[in-house]
Amino acid sequence: MDCFIGVDFGGTSVKLGVITGEGLILKKNIITIGSGDSFEKIMHPVSEWVQSYLKNNGKDGVKAIGIGTPGFIDKRTNILISGSENVPALKKHSVANILSEKTGIPAYQDNDGTCAAAGESVFGNGINYSDFVMITLGTGIGGGLVLNGKVYRGSKGFSGEIGHICLDPNGIWCNCGSRGCFEQYASGPAIVRNYANKLLKRGIVADEEITPEYIFVRAKSKDEIALEVIEEAGYRIAQAFGTLLNVLNLEAFIIGGGISRSGNMLLPVINKYLPDFVWPQLKENVEVVIAKLQNDAGIMGAAAMAYERLNN
Ligand SMILES: [Zn+2]
Repeated sequence: MDCFIGVDFGGTSVKLGVITGEGLILKKNIITIGSGDSFEKIMHPVSEWVQSYLKNNGKDGVKAIGIGTPGFIDKRTNILISGSENVPALKKHSVANILSEKTGIPAYQDNDGTCAAAGESVFGNGINYSDFVMITLGTGIGGGLVLNGKVYRGSKGFSGEIGHICLDPNGIWCNCGSRGCFEQYASGPAIVRNYANKLLKRGIVADEEITPEYIFVRAKSKDEIALEVIEEAGYRIAQAFGTLLNVLNLEAFIIGGGISRSGNMLLPVINKYLPDFVWPQLKENVEVVIAKLQNDAGIMGAAAMAYERLNN
């Protein structure tokens, strides 16, 4: 049975999994890392786990290894060029090249947004579409593109920075150096900030810590401020989607990331405002759906990316 190893680097942990070509998870593991850890310190347990799996289960079944990380990864060299602020040790290195050298198995590295798009395309709700954009709503907004049935990476491999589409040149400053980026209006921290500001202006004190989940729970019980915050985030998502639709003539948008778990409330808002930002012809039959892959999206996406790159 053909398998793929998926490795997903986050700010505090590395998740690993062995996944069959049909999307079944055979084995998985989590390794905790520290933000100040050196590249060697992070790589050692990752490499040990992969090699120990291959030793115990045989090499033949594993066709490729996929690695998803934050940052900009050069698609020709698999080297992370910049942008991995939460795991700075990965910069100027290639996890893929090291794992490939140690195992003799092809390994590929891609941005986690691109991996998420590959994951939905191969194992998730993207199976039904040949042209879609994936967005991941979480601490930031990431994304990936599938065009003509293939993952699109751009000239160097840096495409998919959907969170930094400018929605308002006079808007909120972003950590990328620009103003009014999409990420500043619809990411988890942006929604929390908007809700907290609205409470502050009305002299209301929240009865617990404000998180995106809390806001969605409040909205379900008809908290007007929470509903307003979701309305405003949905409006901005529609604005970004309209821009993408006009350029790319897509069939669908798939929304993943932490916030998508409570994202059903966002869908009607996005659909309500989408016509305001797109040519009517390009809006016809476009579907906005929540990602199928949730808890294991990181390792599934990395494995799917390896599958996709091996076969293209
Ligand atoms: Zn930005």
